[in-house]
Amino acid sequence: MSLKHFLKQIVSNFVKYQCIVCKIDIQKAQTLCHLCVKGVDIIDQSSVCNKCGRYCLVDICYFCIHTPPIFMQAKAFCVYNERSSTLIKHFKYYNDTLCEKFICDKVKLIFNGWSITKDINIVTSVPMNWFKEYLKGYNHSAKLARNLAKSTGLNFLPFLLKKKFSFYRQALSSKKERLKNINGVFSIDERYNITGKNILLIDDTITTGATVNECSRVLLQAGAKSVFVLTFAKSIKDEEIFASSN
Ligand SMILES: [Zn+2]
Ligand SMILES: [Zn+2]
Repeated sequence: MSLKHFLKQIVSNFVKYQCIVCKIDIQKAQTLCHLCVKGVDIIDQSSVCNKCGRYCLVDICYFCIHTPPIFMQAKAFCVYNERSSTLIKHFKYYNDTLCEKFICDKVKLIFNGWSITKDINIVTSVPMNWFKEYLKGYNHSAKLARNLAKSTGLNFLPFLLKKKFSFYRQALSSKKERLKNINGVFSIDERYNITGKNILLIDDTITTGATVNECSRVLLQAGAKSVFVLTFAKSIKDEEIFASSN
């Protein structure tokens, strides 16, 4: 046994790890226990809308036919549930590196299996306003995008999109309010030339799609050829409301 291995074993006897969801003790430096890993609801990519990534039985869902999104296509790794939201919370607010690794690996997995992989020219992320980012010290979506760009060799532009400062809290508002308030929130840094480029936009979660749709509108207006969206989680509230009303 090497000295390094020996020291590692000694340290592992003293350091205790806990599953961040159910709080049971786990042996290795992991974020979730094996039961909670199983409980992450991975999206079956063969059963989703070709546009927005919602579960549906046809190629394009009712929502995308009724109101086509501005982005070309969106994909997510898993459904936004108790486990995935806990992972996101720890990554987003507590800068948990184990959660970051878990989320980054899954985002990478979806990107590598996507048919558009070779067509992407630029990776960017949904921005935070400068004041919020300054107080927090980092933009978690930019971390995700940087990690993906690093492992794929793609060009990463973290400050391509800018977000206006506002006291308004998107997370607390209804879908109607989100759609109304999102207009004009984002702009582009005109120092970058994105004419004719295919852009991959990264965020942690897609909820109503209003945020990524507005970012896509701004990118297309600035000359981008197309925008694809990749997130770790996807809220399925819309599907649930639609299913219960039909
Ligand atoms: Zn657990
Ligand atoms: Zn759709």
